[in-house]
Amino acid sequence: MVTSALRIGVLALQGDVREHAAILTSLGAETVSVRRPEQLDGLDGLVIPGGESSVIDKLSRIFGLRDPLRVAIGDGLPVYGTCAGLILLADEIEGAIDGQLTFGGLDVTVARNAFGGQVESFETELTVDGIDGEVAATFIRAPLITRVGPQARAIATLPDGGVVAVEQGNLLGTSFHPEMNGESRFHARLLDTARRRRGAAAA
Ligand code: GLN
Repeated sequence: MVTSALRIGVLALQGDVREHAAILTSLGAETVSVRRPEQLDGLDGLVIPGGESSVIDKLSRIFGLRDPLRVAIGDGLPVYGTCAGLILLADEIEGAIDGQLTFGGLDVTVARNAFGGQVESFETELTVDGIDGEVAATFIRAPLITRVGPQARAIATLPDGGVVAVEQGNLLGTSFHPEMNGESRFHARLLDTARRRRGAAAA
């Protein structure tokens, strides 16, 4: 039985940390801003926010977080990445800057800034597998998932078929920012995964 609140980290190297923490708190989770490797200890889940993926990548190496994070992902830590966070979870990226790395874990290829030009930012309503009703989604210099490998599963597409959300085991990634529309159901999904993992560990 789960007695204490789930402890969910928000990677706080750069990007929109506060919005994610607010949603997680509203769902009853305890949140931790993660800037140092030891702050990964004892987490039930992690959110990697949007921002600039190349900057988050660089800072994660400077702060010594890259390797422990990769180990945690490999160990099955539930992680939800939005936008730059999705890019960081992808095994492969298109449009990377020189030397840009990802943490990896999701068997997908993601194209950075795929909606460039006139429509760098837009809002739309989407249907998402496993979520009832429409989801309001804000795209900001967003990536597009251009390949979904056999391990991963597309859970949302744009009307033109472009994949914008994927799930793979304990990993969840969206091209868009649900937190900007007060949409909490992706975070709730992360918490469900975290709860299941805790239950399995206790059994
Ligand atoms: N374009 C950004 C990147 O490549 C992502 C934008 C975002 O997170 N809103 O990292």
